[in-house]
Amino acid sequence: MKTIGIIGGGQLGLMIAEQAAVLGARTVCLDPSADAPAFRVCDDHIVAAFDDAAALEELCRRSDAVTYEFENVPGEILIPLTERYNIPQGYRPLFDSQDRIREKTNARDNGLRVPRFAEVHDRESLMKGIFEIGYPCVFKTRTLGYDGHGQAVIRTPEDIARAESYLGVPAILEEFVPFDYEASIVMVNDGERIVSFPIGQNIHRDGILDLCIVPAPRMDDAVRARLVEQSEAFMRRCGYTGILAIEYFVKGGELYFNEMAPRPHNSGHYTIEGCTTNQFRELCRYLLGEPLQEPQLVAPTVMKNILGQDLEAAERIAAENRPGVHVHLYGKSVSKPKRKMGHITFVGMTAGEYDARWRGRFVE
Ligand code: AMP
Repeated sequence: MKTIGIIGGGQLGLMIAEQAAVLGARTVCLDPSADAPAFRVCDDHIVAAFDDAAALEELCRRSDAVTYEFENVPGEILIPLTERYNIPQGYRPLFDSQDRIREKTNARDNGLRVPRFAEVHDRESLMKGIFEIGYPCVFKTRTLGYDGHGQAVIRTPEDIARAESYLGVPAILEEFVPFDYEASIVMVNDGERIVSFPIGQNIHRDGILDLCIVPAPRMDDAVRARLVEQSEAFMRRCGYTGILAIEYFVKGGELYFNEMAPRPHNSGHYTIEGCTTNQFRELCRYLLGEPLQEPQLVAPTVMKNILGQDLEAAERIAAENRPGVHVHLYGKSVSKPKRKMGHITFVGMTAGEYDARWRGRFVE
């Protein structure tokens, strides 16, 4: 029996461990918090910080293959481990995604269109960036940003003050893309073959993913085919194997790369029940050296993220036990309004049906 090591014990680690079990593999998981969600389902765990080199090495020693769900593992620790243990995705895709300037430069150099951007490190470079890019533009911290944290949209000179409060840390200024909608793709590459999951249309609330709708209702077949083709070509050109998610802004027929993640992606949670195989299972197949399976969409699907404020509604919906309604609660010990506490997948449902039947159940 093989063991998969997982760096990070959040909901992604939890769902990787669940799917590893389906494939008959063991899991061992490392996380700094003693009540990490994944610890409930993995076979073994290590409580340690992500920069604890000895603990990460212990995780590697106990595993046949290691993956990460946490994106900010320091390179100086991970790189030496990739040389001695089986961490098949390596450090490179993490390195390329850990910094927004590096991430966008890499995407552009490997064939993807990115919003215009400028490097910002002080007030002078901020003003220069605004002059070059023009209004409106988006200010973001370069590292450790997620779910809209450390971001400000600058529409007028009066808004500059909002970005100034973040100055002092390295930042990026981006062209504001007046997109029609956002979309994402999740791919798994075993080195020879790439399987891609059906593309979701993503709706955000306060910078956090709220809904993922599949098939993407506003995407025509030509754009869909181009998105798949350019994403797979990008993954090949970069030499990434394992799992990769890419988020795009879609404007007319144009696709703008926004960001990528070399781990299972929130927009791919719908695949657990909405597809014949899911992002976590195919990642595990890759880690275990098993042949990948091509996913098929089972039926139109809507995934709703459950944040702290939605938790009570989600618990009531879970108790109703309706067919096609799959409630996942991650078992996090502390619930906060904007914290991801779970998700619900509605299989056999369109966006219109969701709006009519379910939207009203959640806090607006
Ligand atoms: P991010 O953390 O970069 O994914 O940004 C969070 C959300 O902010 C995105 O999903 C978009 O809805 C919005 N956003 C970020 N960057 C831009 C941009 N350059 N133009 C328009 N909207 C953006």
